[in-house]
Amino acid sequence: MNGSLVSKKNELIEKLRVLGIVDETLLSTIFSIAREDFIPKYLRNQAYENAALPIECEQTISQPYIVAYMTQELKVNKSHKVLEIGTGSGYQAVILAKLCKRLFTIERHLPLYTAAEEIFKKFRLFNIITLFGNGIKGWKEQEPFDRIIVTAAAEDIPQKLLSQLKDEGIMVIPIGIQGETQHIVRVTRRGGEFDFKTCVPVKFVPLLSGIVHSS
Ligand code: SAH
Repeated sequence: MNGSLVSKKNELIEKLRVLGIVDETLLSTIFSIAREDFIPKYLRNQAYENAALPIECEQTISQPYIVAYMTQELKVNKSHKVLEIGTGSGYQAVILAKLCKRLFTIERHLPLYTAAEEIFKKFRLFNIITLFGNGIKGWKEQEPFDRIIVTAAAEDIPQKLLSQLKDEGIMVIPIGIQGETQHIVRVTRRGGEFDFKTCVPVKFVPLLSGIVHSS
């Protein structure tokens, strides 16, 4: 990595601290991962700006603060089995895989799914299990999950995902209509009950059903 990217990365970590990311393990994990490896080459210089950036298939790699915020809200540890809906670039997946036991991640765009699989191999992260499919249905064969993170916005929380969450499990998901203000919602399961907490405003690409074979 060139010197200017290193100093931009340091500045980004400081910005995340100011914005309330206090989990030092999370901050050092973010520091250890080269975000430029997950974005198109022509955007390399913007890798450490606190901004969402375009990736293939008209999708986006989320803003670093939101990646950090959602991960912090998820309270992941090394014993957890985690489900991510929306693999996208694979950036959020790699961060989670370093913090949990096993990460299951689902993507509905085939080119993104294929590119992410290559990246996970390159990073030698063998605790990531990928699926090309519609994540709204969750992952029946692998349930229940300690943690679920959805990285695309839904109008309502998919019921199938709630049912695949373990007791005392946490789910973090952006909720809201496209073009209007969406919010991160944190759901905690307590037996048959669910506690909902509305958190920061966000702007995410939509959670859509079906699968797409080309870009
Ligand atoms: N976590 C990603 C964010 C990618 S943007 C990252 O770190 O880069 C959201 C992703 O969710 C897109 O790739 C989009 O194709 C995917 N997506 C949207 N609806 C989906 C669904 N129902 N199932 C699986 N993936 C979905």
